[in-house]
Amino acid sequence: MSARILVVDDVPANIKLLEARLSAEYFDVLTAPNGTEALKMCQRAECDIILLDVMMPDIDGFEVCRRLKSDPLTHHIPVVMVTALDSASDRVRGLEAGADDFLTKPVSDVALIARVRSLTRLKMMTDELRMRAVTSFEIGVQAPERSAITDTGKGGRVLLVDDRSSSYERLASLLAAEHAVDVEPNPAEALFHAADGNYDLLIVSLDLHNYDGLRLCSQARSLERTRHVPILAIADPDSNTRLLRGLEIGVNDYLLRPIDKNELLARARTQIRRRRYTDHLRDNVQNSIEMAITDALTGLHNRRYMESHLATLAEQASTRGKPLALMMLDIDYFKSINDGYGHDAGDDVLREFAVRVRKSIRGIDLACRYGGEEFVIVMPETDLHVAGMVAERVRRSIAGEPFAVNNGSKRIDVTISIGLSTLETKGEAVADVLKRADQALYRAKHDGRNRVVAQAA
Ligand code: GH3
Ligand code: MG
Ligand code: MG
Repeated sequence: MSARILVVDDVPANIKLLEARLSAEYFDVLTAPNGTEALKMCQRAECDIILLDVMMPDIDGFEVCRRLKSDPLTHHIPVVMVTALDSASDRVRGLEAGADDFLTKPVSDVALIARVRSLTRLKMMTDELRMRAVTSFEIGVQAPERSAITDTGKGGRVLLVDDRSSSYERLASLLAAEHAVDVEPNPAEALFHAADGNYDLLIVSLDLHNYDGLRLCSQARSLERTRHVPILAIADPDSNTRLLRGLEIGVNDYLLRPIDKNELLARARTQIRRRRYTDHLRDNVQNSIEMAITDALTGLHNRRYMESHLATLAEQASTRGKPLALMMLDIDYFKSINDGYGHDAGDDVLREFAVRVRKSIRGIDLACRYGGEEFVIVMPETDLHVAGMVAERVRRSIAGEPFAVNNGSKRIDVTISIGLSTLETKGEAVADVLKRADQALYRAKHDGRNRVVAQAA
Protein backbone atom coordinates (compact mmCIF):
# COMPACT_ATOMS: atom_id res chain seq x y z
CA MET A 1 0.00 0.00 0.00
CA SER A 2 1.56 3.29 -1.03
CA ALA A 3 0.58 6.89 -0.58
CA ARG A 4 1.60 10.43 -1.41
CA ILE A 5 3.30 12.03 1.55
CA LEU A 6 3.75 15.76 1.80
CA VAL A 7 6.82 16.74 3.82
CA VAL A 8 6.71 20.31 5.08
CA ASP A 9 9.85 21.85 6.58
CA ASP A 10 11.71 25.14 6.23
CA VAL A 11 15.10 23.40 6.47
CA PRO A 12 16.01 21.74 3.14
CA ALA A 13 18.27 19.19 4.85
CA ASN A 14 15.37 17.92 6.99
CA ILE A 15 13.20 17.54 3.90
CA LYS A 16 15.95 15.61 2.10
CA LEU A 17 16.34 13.20 4.98
CA LEU A 18 12.65 12.31 5.28
CA GLU A 19 12.24 12.24 1.52
CA ALA A 20 15.05 9.69 1.14
CA ARG A 21 13.66 7.37 3.83
CA LEU A 22 10.10 7.51 2.57
CA SER A 23 11.12 7.02 -1.07
CA ALA A 24 13.14 3.99 -0.05
CA GLU A 25 9.86 2.48 1.19
CA TYR A 26 8.17 3.37 -2.13
CA PHE A 27 6.08 6.22 -0.87
CA ASP A 28 5.59 9.15 -3.27
CA VAL A 29 7.02 12.24 -1.67
CA LEU A 30 6.00 15.83 -2.26
CA THR A 31 7.65 18.70 -0.44
CA ALA A 32 6.78 22.22 0.65
CA PRO A 33 9.16 24.75 2.21
CA ASN A 34 6.53 26.58 4.27
CA GLY A 35 3.00 26.46 5.66
CA THR A 36 1.38 28.63 3.00
CA GLU A 37 2.61 26.40 0.21
CA ALA A 38 1.56 23.28 2.13
CA LEU A 39 -2.00 24.58 2.64
CA LYS A 40 -2.35 25.24 -1.07
CA MET A 41 -1.17 21.76 -1.99
CA CYS A 42 -3.58 20.18 0.47
CA GLN A 43 -6.48 22.16 -0.90
CA ARG A 44 -5.64 20.88 -4.35
CA ALA A 45 -5.87 17.38 -2.83
CA GLU A 46 -2.35 16.52 -3.87
CA CYS A 47 -1.38 14.42 -0.87
CA ASP A 48 -2.62 11.64 1.42
CA ILE A 49 -0.63 12.37 4.57
CA ILE A 50 1.30 15.39 5.82
CA LEU A 51 4.50 15.35 7.85
CA LEU A 52 4.53 18.81 9.31
CA ASP A 53 7.42 20.62 10.95
CA VAL A 54 6.34 22.68 13.95
CA MET A 55 8.77 25.59 13.87
CA MET A 56 8.55 27.44 10.61
CA PRO A 57 8.98 31.14 9.86
CA ASP A 58 5.71 32.07 8.14
CA ILE A 59 2.90 30.09 9.77
CA ASP A 60 3.95 27.57 12.41
CA GLY A 61 2.98 23.92 12.22
CA PHE A 62 0.28 24.16 14.92
CA GLU A 63 -1.50 26.87 12.94
CA VAL A 64 -1.17 25.01 9.62
CA CYS A 65 -2.68 21.97 11.32
CA ARG A 66 -5.52 23.99 12.81
CA ARG A 67 -6.39 25.44 9.39
CA LEU A 68 -6.30 22.05 7.69
CA LYS A 69 -8.51 20.52 10.34
CA SER A 70 -11.09 23.31 10.25
CA ASP A 71 -11.54 23.21 6.47
CA PRO A 72 -14.04 20.60 5.22
CA LEU A 73 -11.86 20.16 2.13
CA THR A 74 -8.77 19.09 4.03
CA HIS A 75 -10.15 17.94 7.36
CA HIS A 76 -9.72 14.24 6.62
CA ILE A 77 -6.01 14.37 5.72
CA PRO A 78 -3.93 12.84 8.54
CA VAL A 79 -1.36 15.21 9.99
CA VAL A 80 1.83 14.07 11.70
CA MET A 81 3.69 16.78 13.60
CA VAL A 82 7.43 16.44 13.37
CA THR A 83 8.95 18.27 16.28
CA ALA A 84 12.24 18.85 18.00
CA LEU A 85 10.31 19.54 21.16
CA ASP A 86 9.32 16.56 23.18
CA SER A 87 7.39 17.46 26.23
CA ALA A 88 3.88 16.31 26.98
CA SER A 89 2.66 19.89 26.81
CA ASP A 90 3.93 20.30 23.22
CA ARG A 91 2.22 17.10 22.22
CA VAL A 92 -1.00 18.26 23.84
CA ARG A 93 -0.76 21.55 21.96
CA GLY A 94 -0.44 19.65 18.70
CA LEU A 95 -3.32 17.32 19.50
CA GLU A 96 -5.42 20.30 20.43
CA ALA A 97 -4.65 21.73 16.98
CA GLY A 98 -6.00 18.46 15.55
CA ALA A 99 -2.78 16.54 14.80
CA ASP A 100 -3.24 12.81 14.33
CA ASP A 101 0.23 11.84 15.39
CA PHE A 102 3.75 12.88 16.44
CA LEU A 103 7.31 12.14 15.53
CA THR A 104 10.20 13.54 17.49
CA LYS A 105 13.40 14.68 15.78
CA PRO A 106 15.71 12.94 15.20
CA VAL A 107 13.09 10.71 13.62
CA SER A 108 13.74 6.99 13.96
CA ASP A 109 13.32 4.98 10.76
CA VAL A 110 11.03 2.33 12.17
CA ALA A 111 8.79 4.80 13.95
CA LEU A 112 8.49 6.89 10.81
CA ILE A 113 7.54 4.01 8.55
CA ALA A 114 5.22 2.36 11.10
CA ARG A 115 3.26 5.55 11.67
CA VAL A 116 3.08 6.51 8.02
CA ARG A 117 1.89 3.01 7.15
CA SER A 118 -0.81 3.01 9.80
CA LEU A 119 -2.05 6.44 8.71
CA THR A 120 -1.97 5.30 5.07
CA ARG A 121 -4.38 2.52 5.97
CA LEU A 122 -6.62 5.03 7.73
CA LYS A 123 -6.51 7.45 4.80
CA MET A 124 -7.31 4.75 2.24
CA MET A 125 -10.31 3.61 4.26
CA THR A 126 -11.58 7.17 4.68
CA ASP A 127 -11.11 7.91 0.97
CA GLU A 128 -13.02 4.80 0.02
CA LEU A 129 -15.91 5.76 2.28
CA ARG A 130 -15.87 9.36 1.11
CA MET A 131 -15.99 8.27 -2.49
CA ARG A 132 -18.87 5.88 -1.97
CA ALA A 133 -20.81 8.41 0.08
CA VAL A 134 -20.46 11.05 -2.60
CA THR A 135 -23.97 10.72 -3.99
CA SER A 136 -25.52 11.62 -0.67
CA PHE A 137 -23.34 14.75 -0.45
CA GLU A 138 -24.56 15.72 -3.88
CA ILE A 139 -28.18 15.60 -2.91
CA GLY A 140 -27.55 17.68 0.17
CA VAL A 141 -27.20 15.28 3.08
CA GLN A 142 -25.07 17.01 5.66
CA ALA A 143 -21.43 16.34 4.99
CA PRO A 144 -19.79 14.53 7.93
CA GLU A 145 -16.90 17.01 7.79
CA ARG A 146 -19.16 19.76 9.11
CA SER A 147 -20.01 17.96 12.30
CA ALA A 148 -16.53 16.46 12.63
CA ILE A 149 -14.98 19.92 12.72
CA THR A 150 -17.12 20.99 15.66
CA ASP A 151 -16.94 17.64 17.49
CA THR A 152 -15.10 18.07 20.82
CA GLY A 153 -14.34 14.35 21.08
CA LYS A 154 -15.82 14.32 24.57
CA GLY A 155 -18.66 12.18 25.86
CA GLY A 156 -17.34 8.93 24.40
CA ARG A 157 -17.78 5.38 25.68
CA VAL A 158 -14.40 4.02 26.69
CA LEU A 159 -13.36 0.50 27.71
CA LEU A 160 -10.12 0.34 29.67
CA VAL A 161 -8.42 -3.06 29.75
CA ASP A 162 -5.84 -3.08 32.53
CA ASP A 163 -5.26 -5.58 35.33
CA ARG A 164 -3.25 -3.40 37.71
CA SER A 165 -5.62 -1.69 40.09
CA SER A 166 -3.20 1.13 40.93
CA SER A 167 -3.01 1.92 37.22
CA TYR A 168 -6.63 1.53 36.14
CA GLU A 169 -8.03 3.39 39.12
CA ARG A 170 -6.01 6.45 38.23
CA LEU A 171 -6.63 6.24 34.47
CA ALA A 172 -10.35 5.63 34.88
CA SER A 173 -10.75 8.62 37.15
CA LEU A 174 -8.83 10.85 34.73
CA LEU A 175 -10.91 9.69 31.76
CA ALA A 176 -14.16 9.99 33.67
CA ALA A 177 -13.79 13.78 33.51
CA GLU A 178 -14.75 13.63 29.83
CA HIS A 179 -16.13 10.17 29.03
CA ALA A 180 -18.16 7.25 30.30
CA VAL A 181 -15.53 4.69 31.32
CA ASP A 182 -15.81 0.95 31.95
CA VAL A 183 -12.87 -1.00 33.34
CA GLU A 184 -12.18 -4.62 32.41
CA PRO A 185 -9.46 -6.00 34.70
CA ASN A 186 -9.73 -9.51 33.24
CA PRO A 187 -8.06 -9.61 29.80
CA ALA A 188 -9.69 -12.95 29.00
CA GLU A 189 -13.10 -11.28 29.22
CA ALA A 190 -12.06 -8.11 27.43
CA LEU A 191 -12.88 -9.14 23.89
CA PHE A 192 -16.47 -10.16 24.74
CA HIS A 193 -16.88 -7.06 26.81
CA ALA A 194 -15.63 -4.90 23.93
CA ALA A 195 -17.86 -6.62 21.39
CA ASP A 196 -20.97 -6.16 23.53
CA GLY A 197 -20.44 -2.61 24.67
CA ASN A 198 -20.60 -0.44 21.54
CA TYR A 199 -17.49 1.47 22.60
CA ASP A 200 -15.91 4.47 20.91
CA LEU A 201 -12.44 3.64 22.19
CA LEU A 202 -10.52 0.70 23.64
CA ILE A 203 -7.56 1.52 25.86
CA VAL A 204 -5.39 -1.56 26.29
CA SER A 205 -2.45 -1.99 28.62
CA LEU A 206 0.29 -3.97 26.91
CA ASP A 207 1.80 -4.97 30.26
CA LEU A 208 -0.79 -7.43 31.48
CA HIS A 209 0.10 -10.32 33.80
CA ASN A 210 0.17 -13.61 31.89
CA TYR A 211 -1.64 -12.13 28.92
CA ASP A 212 -0.44 -10.72 25.64
CA GLY A 213 -2.07 -7.33 25.19
CA LEU A 214 -1.10 -7.31 21.52
CA ARG A 215 -3.01 -10.52 20.96
CA LEU A 216 -6.07 -8.86 22.38
CA CYS A 217 -5.55 -5.91 20.00
CA SER A 218 -5.21 -8.17 16.99
CA GLN A 219 -8.31 -10.15 17.97
CA ALA A 220 -10.25 -6.91 18.34
CA ARG A 221 -9.14 -6.01 14.83
CA SER A 222 -10.39 -9.23 13.30
CA LEU A 223 -13.72 -9.37 15.12
CA GLU A 224 -16.53 -7.81 13.08
CA ARG A 225 -18.05 -5.90 15.99
CA THR A 226 -14.83 -4.32 17.21
CA ARG A 227 -13.04 -3.95 13.89
CA HIS A 228 -13.67 -0.22 13.64
CA VAL A 229 -13.21 0.67 17.31
CA PRO A 230 -9.97 2.63 17.76
CA ILE A 231 -7.34 1.18 20.08
CA LEU A 232 -5.04 3.26 22.24
CA ALA A 233 -2.22 1.17 23.72
CA ILE A 234 -0.55 1.93 27.02
CA ALA A 235 2.97 0.66 27.55
CA ASP A 236 5.99 0.93 29.78
CA PRO A 237 8.93 2.85 28.33
CA ASP A 238 11.35 0.68 26.33
CA SER A 239 8.52 -1.27 24.69
CA ASN A 240 9.41 0.14 21.29
CA THR A 241 9.45 -3.07 19.31
CA ARG A 242 6.13 -4.17 20.75
CA LEU A 243 4.58 -0.80 20.04
CA LEU A 244 5.71 -0.91 16.44
CA ARG A 245 4.25 -4.40 16.12
CA GLY A 246 1.08 -2.96 17.60
CA LEU A 247 0.89 -0.18 15.03
CA GLU A 248 1.37 -2.77 12.30
CA ILE A 249 -1.54 -4.89 13.46
CA GLY A 250 -3.87 -1.94 13.76
CA VAL A 251 -3.32 -0.21 17.12
CA ASN A 252 -4.15 3.41 16.37
CA ASP A 253 -2.08 5.26 18.94
CA TYR A 254 -0.12 4.74 22.14
CA LEU A 255 0.97 6.39 25.36
CA LEU A 256 4.00 5.61 27.49
CA ARG A 257 3.94 5.40 31.28
CA PRO A 258 3.98 7.48 33.38
CA ILE A 259 0.80 8.72 31.73
CA ASP A 260 0.43 12.46 31.46
CA LYS A 261 -3.15 13.42 32.23
CA ASN A 262 -3.62 16.00 29.50
CA GLU A 263 -1.96 13.90 26.86
CA LEU A 264 -4.18 10.94 27.74
CA LEU A 265 -7.28 13.10 27.43
CA ALA A 266 -6.13 14.73 24.19
CA ARG A 267 -5.26 11.41 22.53
CA ALA A 268 -8.55 9.87 23.63
CA ARG A 269 -10.47 12.81 22.18
CA THR A 270 -8.58 12.56 18.86
CA GLN A 271 -9.40 8.87 18.49
CA ILE A 272 -13.04 9.32 19.48
CA ARG A 273 -13.51 12.22 17.09
CA ARG A 274 -12.02 10.18 14.25
CA ARG A 275 -14.22 7.22 15.15
CA ARG A 276 -17.35 9.33 15.01
CA TYR A 277 -16.32 10.82 11.71
CA THR A 278 -15.75 7.45 10.03
CA ASP A 279 -18.98 6.09 11.54
CA HIS A 280 -20.80 9.04 10.10
CA LEU A 281 -19.19 8.39 6.72
CA ARG A 282 -20.23 4.74 6.91
CA ASP A 283 -23.84 5.72 7.67
CA ASN A 284 -23.75 8.02 4.68
CA VAL A 285 -22.59 5.22 2.45
CA GLN A 286 -25.49 3.13 3.72
CA ASN A 287 -27.89 5.99 3.02
CA SER A 288 -26.46 6.50 -0.45
CA ILE A 289 -27.08 2.87 -1.23
CA GLU A 290 -30.65 3.13 -0.01
CA MET A 291 -31.23 6.36 -1.89
CA ALA A 292 -29.90 4.86 -5.07
CA ILE A 293 -32.66 2.25 -5.04
CA THR A 294 -35.50 4.29 -3.53
CA ASP A 295 -37.92 6.78 -5.01
CA ALA A 296 -37.65 9.91 -2.88
CA LEU A 297 -41.30 11.02 -3.07
CA THR A 298 -43.05 7.75 -2.26
CA GLY A 299 -40.33 5.75 -0.51
CA LEU A 300 -41.10 2.83 -2.83
CA HIS A 301 -38.30 1.24 -4.85
CA ASN A 302 -37.34 3.03 -8.03
CA ARG A 303 -37.52 1.71 -11.54
CA ARG A 304 -33.84 0.90 -11.83
CA TYR A 305 -33.97 -1.32 -8.75
CA MET A 306 -37.18 -3.00 -9.88
CA GLU A 307 -35.79 -3.83 -13.29
CA SER A 308 -32.67 -5.50 -11.94
CA HIS A 309 -34.50 -7.24 -9.11
CA LEU A 310 -37.35 -8.41 -11.32
CA ALA A 311 -34.86 -10.33 -13.43
CA THR A 312 -33.62 -12.12 -10.29
CA LEU A 313 -37.16 -12.90 -9.11
CA ALA A 314 -38.13 -14.25 -12.53
CA GLU A 315 -35.06 -16.47 -12.60
CA GLN A 316 -35.86 -17.83 -9.13
CA ALA A 317 -39.45 -18.50 -10.14
CA SER A 318 -38.28 -20.35 -13.24
CA THR A 319 -35.76 -22.56 -11.47
CA ARG A 320 -38.12 -23.36 -8.59
CA GLY A 321 -41.12 -23.92 -10.85
CA LYS A 322 -43.18 -21.30 -9.00
CA PRO A 323 -45.55 -18.74 -10.52
CA LEU A 324 -44.77 -15.03 -10.59
CA ALA A 325 -47.33 -12.28 -11.11
CA LEU A 326 -46.90 -8.64 -11.93
CA MET A 327 -49.30 -5.72 -11.91
CA MET A 328 -48.92 -2.38 -13.54
CA LEU A 329 -50.96 0.39 -11.92
CA ASP A 330 -51.71 3.85 -13.25
CA ILE A 331 -53.64 6.63 -11.54
CA ASP A 332 -56.67 7.71 -13.58
CA TYR A 333 -56.85 11.27 -14.87
CA PHE A 334 -53.93 12.24 -12.70
CA LYS A 335 -53.19 15.22 -14.89
CA SER A 336 -56.53 16.73 -13.96
CA ILE A 337 -55.70 16.35 -10.21
CA ASN A 338 -52.57 18.43 -10.83
CA ASP A 339 -54.50 20.90 -12.95
CA GLY A 340 -57.42 21.20 -10.54
CA TYR A 341 -55.66 21.19 -7.15
CA GLY A 342 -52.03 21.96 -7.88
CA HIS A 343 -48.85 19.95 -8.23
CA ASP A 344 -48.43 19.64 -4.45
CA ALA A 345 -51.83 18.03 -4.20
CA GLY A 346 -50.69 15.61 -6.91
CA ASP A 347 -47.65 14.79 -4.77
CA ASP A 348 -49.88 14.22 -1.73
CA VAL A 349 -51.90 11.74 -3.74
CA LEU A 350 -48.76 9.88 -4.86
CA ARG A 351 -47.50 9.61 -1.27
CA GLU A 352 -50.82 8.43 0.12
CA PHE A 353 -51.19 6.04 -2.79
CA ALA A 354 -47.87 4.43 -1.78
CA VAL A 355 -49.03 4.10 1.84
CA ARG A 356 -52.23 2.34 0.81
CA VAL A 357 -50.45 0.06 -1.64
CA ARG A 358 -47.99 -1.04 1.04
CA LYS A 359 -50.87 -1.98 3.32
CA SER A 360 -52.49 -4.12 0.62
CA ILE A 361 -49.51 -6.27 -0.31
CA ARG A 362 -47.17 -8.73 1.41
CA GLY A 363 -43.64 -8.06 2.62
CA ILE A 364 -42.13 -10.18 -0.13
CA ASP A 365 -43.99 -8.31 -2.87
CA LEU A 366 -41.90 -5.70 -4.59
CA ALA A 367 -43.61 -2.35 -5.13
CA CYS A 368 -41.94 0.34 -7.16
CA ARG A 369 -42.61 3.65 -8.80
CA TYR A 370 -42.18 2.94 -12.47
CA GLY A 371 -42.78 6.42 -13.82
CA GLY A 372 -44.62 9.62 -12.84
CA GLU A 373 -47.95 8.12 -11.73
CA GLU A 374 -47.31 4.61 -12.89
CA PHE A 375 -46.36 1.78 -10.51
CA VAL A 376 -45.36 -1.86 -10.72
CA ILE A 377 -45.90 -4.54 -8.08
CA VAL A 378 -44.13 -7.88 -8.49
CA MET A 379 -45.64 -10.81 -6.58
CA PRO A 380 -43.52 -13.94 -6.18
CA GLU A 381 -45.27 -17.31 -5.81
CA THR A 382 -48.56 -15.85 -6.95
CA ASP A 383 -50.73 -17.10 -9.82
CA LEU A 384 -53.05 -15.04 -11.99
CA HIS A 385 -56.13 -15.91 -9.95
CA VAL A 386 -54.68 -14.78 -6.63
CA ALA A 387 -53.02 -11.77 -8.27
CA GLY A 388 -56.48 -10.75 -9.54
CA MET A 389 -57.80 -10.74 -5.98
CA VAL A 390 -54.86 -8.71 -4.71
CA ALA A 391 -55.25 -6.22 -7.55
CA GLU A 392 -58.94 -5.85 -6.77
CA ARG A 393 -58.05 -5.22 -3.11
CA VAL A 394 -55.56 -2.53 -4.12
CA ARG A 395 -58.09 -0.92 -6.48
CA ARG A 396 -60.70 -0.77 -3.70
CA SER A 397 -58.23 0.64 -1.19
CA ILE A 398 -57.73 3.60 -3.52
CA ALA A 399 -61.26 4.16 -4.82
CA GLY A 400 -62.98 3.37 -1.52
CA GLU A 401 -61.70 6.32 0.48
CA PRO A 402 -61.10 9.93 -0.73
CA PHE A 403 -57.55 11.31 -0.56
CA ALA A 404 -56.81 14.27 1.71
CA VAL A 405 -54.72 16.92 -0.07
CA ASN A 406 -53.42 20.43 0.62
CA ASN A 407 -52.82 19.79 4.33
CA GLY A 408 -56.12 18.02 4.70
CA SER A 409 -58.16 21.01 3.53
CA LYS A 410 -59.58 19.11 0.57
CA ARG A 411 -60.59 15.53 -0.05
CA ILE A 412 -60.66 14.17 -3.57
CA ASP A 413 -61.73 10.91 -5.16
CA VAL A 414 -58.96 8.97 -6.85
CA THR A 415 -59.16 5.81 -8.92
CA ILE A 416 -56.58 3.58 -10.55
CA SER A 417 -56.47 1.16 -13.43
CA ILE A 418 -54.49 -2.07 -13.19
CA GLY A 419 -53.06 -4.43 -15.79
CA LEU A 420 -52.02 -7.96 -14.73
CA SER A 421 -49.62 -10.47 -16.19
CA THR A 422 -47.70 -13.58 -15.13
CA LEU A 423 -44.48 -15.26 -16.09
CA GLU A 424 -45.65 -17.68 -18.76
CA THR A 425 -42.71 -19.85 -19.73
CA LYS A 426 -39.51 -20.77 -17.97
CA GLY A 427 -36.77 -18.28 -18.76
CA GLU A 428 -39.15 -15.81 -20.40
CA ALA A 429 -37.71 -12.30 -20.74
CA VAL A 430 -39.07 -9.98 -18.04
CA ALA A 431 -39.56 -7.30 -20.68
CA ASP A 432 -42.27 -9.50 -22.18
CA VAL A 433 -44.03 -9.89 -18.83
CA LEU A 434 -43.97 -6.13 -18.36
CA LYS A 435 -45.25 -5.63 -21.87
CA ARG A 436 -48.28 -7.88 -21.33
CA ALA A 437 -49.13 -6.03 -18.09
CA ASP A 438 -48.85 -2.76 -19.98
CA GLN A 439 -51.18 -4.00 -22.72
CA ALA A 440 -53.69 -5.14 -20.08
CA LEU A 441 -53.44 -1.74 -18.41
CA TYR A 442 -54.15 -0.10 -21.73
CA ARG A 443 -57.32 -2.18 -22.03
CA ALA A 444 -58.36 -1.23 -18.49
CA LYS A 445 -58.04 2.44 -19.43
CA HIS A 446 -59.82 1.91 -22.70
CA ASP A 447 -62.69 0.00 -21.07
CA GLY A 448 -63.48 2.87 -18.73
CA ARG A 449 -60.75 3.00 -16.00
CA ASN A 450 -61.05 2.14 -12.26
CA ARG A 451 -60.76 -1.55 -13.08
CA VAL A 452 -58.46 -4.56 -13.21
CA VAL A 453 -57.74 -6.34 -16.49
CA ALA A 454 -55.67 -9.51 -16.81
CA GLN A 455 -53.39 -10.27 -19.75
CA ALA A 456 -54.94 -11.77 -22.84
CA ALA A 457 -54.77 -15.56 -22.74
P1 GH3 B 1 -54.84 8.45 -17.64
O1 GH3 B 1 -56.10 8.19 -16.88
O2 GH3 B 1 -54.96 8.12 -19.06
O3 GH3 B 1 -53.67 7.75 -16.99
O4 GH3 B 1 -54.58 10.02 -17.56
P2 GH3 B 1 -53.52 10.79 -16.72
O5 GH3 B 1 -53.87 12.20 -16.66
O6 GH3 B 1 -53.34 10.11 -15.39
O7 GH3 B 1 -52.18 10.50 -17.53
P3 GH3 B 1 -51.13 11.46 -18.20
O8 GH3 B 1 -50.01 10.52 -18.58
O9 GH3 B 1 -51.77 12.28 -19.28
O10 GH3 B 1 -50.64 12.45 -17.07
C1 GH3 B 1 -49.82 12.06 -16.03
C2 GH3 B 1 -49.44 13.28 -15.28
O11 GH3 B 1 -48.70 12.97 -14.10
C3 GH3 B 1 -48.58 14.22 -16.08
C4 GH3 B 1 -47.47 14.60 -15.14
O12 GH3 B 1 -47.28 15.99 -15.08
C5 GH3 B 1 -47.92 14.11 -13.81
N1 GH3 B 1 -46.84 13.73 -12.94
C6 GH3 B 1 -45.80 12.91 -13.20
N2 GH3 B 1 -44.98 12.82 -12.13
C7 GH3 B 1 -45.49 13.60 -11.16
C8 GH3 B 1 -45.12 13.92 -9.82
O13 GH3 B 1 -44.08 13.46 -9.30
N3 GH3 B 1 -45.89 14.76 -9.12
C9 GH3 B 1 -47.02 15.29 -9.66
N4 GH3 B 1 -47.75 16.10 -8.89
N5 GH3 B 1 -47.40 15.03 -10.91
C10 GH3 B 1 -46.68 14.18 -11.67
MG1 MG C 1 -52.62 8.15 -15.33
MG1 MG D 1 -49.61 7.92 -17.35
